[in-house]
Amino acid sequence: TQNEKESLYIALDFANKYYQEQLWKTPEGESIGQSYFKERGFNHQTIHKFDLGYSPDGWDTFTKHALKSGFALDILEKAGLTIIKEGKDPIDRFRGRVIFPIHNVAGKAIAFGARILKKDPNSPKYLNSPETAVYHKSFIVYGIAQAKNPIRQEENCYLVEGYTDVVSLNQAGIENVVASSGTSLTKEQIQLIRRFTDNITVLYDGDAAGIKASLRGIDIILEEGLNVKAVVFPDGDDPDSFVQKVGSQAFKDYVKNTQKDFIRFKTEISLKDVGNDPIKRAELIKELVETIAKIPDSIKRSVFYKEVASLLSIDEHILITEGNKIFQRKA
Ligand code: ATP
Ligand code: MN
Ligand code: MN
Ligand code: MN
Repeated sequence: TQNEKESLYIALDFANKYYQEQLWKTPEGESIGQSYFKERGFNHQTIHKFDLGYSPDGWDTFTKHALKSGFALDILEKAGLTIIKEGKDPIDRFRGRVIFPIHNVAGKAIAFGARILKKDPNSPKYLNSPETAVYHKSFIVYGIAQAKNPIRQEENCYLVEGYTDVVSLNQAGIENVVASSGTSLTKEQIQLIRRFTDNITVLYDGDAAGIKASLRGIDIILEEGLNVKAVVFPDGDDPDSFVQKVGSQAFKDYVKNTQKDFIRFKTEISLKDVGNDPIKRAELIKELVETIAKIPDSIKRSVFYKEVASLLSIDEHILITEGNKIFQRKA
């Protein structure tokens, strides 16, 4: 109900402020949380811009404080902040982690991502809020509240994988950036971005997983009728590590000089596996045609058929004929 959602927003806002207070105003927050962000190279202004925080390392520090402040236990649970198991005392979901609040477009906190401080094989690197009445993971991208105006101004949106990529790029002066947060991209997330621009540049991690995820993401972006480019980072780097390494200007130059339209991106990556094997080559051509056939606009489709034809030295008309069959099958 609307009433319940309203109570969740209030609890989430309370938690958001609490985690920031813990970061800035407690000895634990300072020695552990602030030092962590400092090591990652985040300055105070950046930390404030994203409302980053710290959740203390106790079982129920937050929950007790919220109950004392008048919040009902079932609201804390429904907001994803407190975990209740039968026969046990309620505990905080986020303990001893740095906190990345997830805001909706309007800037309200709706969920949290929480990063562990040190590598631990027994504990996931990030813990995230569960789905709640106000948080539907597949409908939101991280950073959209801060990025929406810059996206409009730049007429482009950079799409990255991680929270820290968004934060670091902002610090480097690149503000038109949002993250899919490690899950595979959905059509609803693209529709959200489309409220602000028709152009997306995918900046996923420079590892096998990142490249695979960008290929999948590209198809979804095309189906929604947006223009998409992609950048590959050196293996082992993500936008955060890369910008921290080379600095803002070199990062911007790298993106400008290596970004490729999706078809060149896909073709070049796939050609590495394909080599001269004619069967694999034929398969690749079919895949590329499938991808182009996802583009709703026929003029754009024809431009990309031309490009594939020239990249793979094959007759453009064969591609068009095949592509049109697929396109009609879908329609
Ligand atoms: P860091 O630089 O802090 O190590 P990252 O953002 O580079 O973090 P990746 O491993 O590249 O981390 O993952 C990208 C994103 O996927 C994360 O920012 C987070 O949103 C999500 N993610 C990663 N690991 C997990 C996990 N174990 N559980 C839930 N989400 C995760
Ligand atoms: Mn990764
Ligand atoms: Mn990283
Ligand atoms: Mn990463």
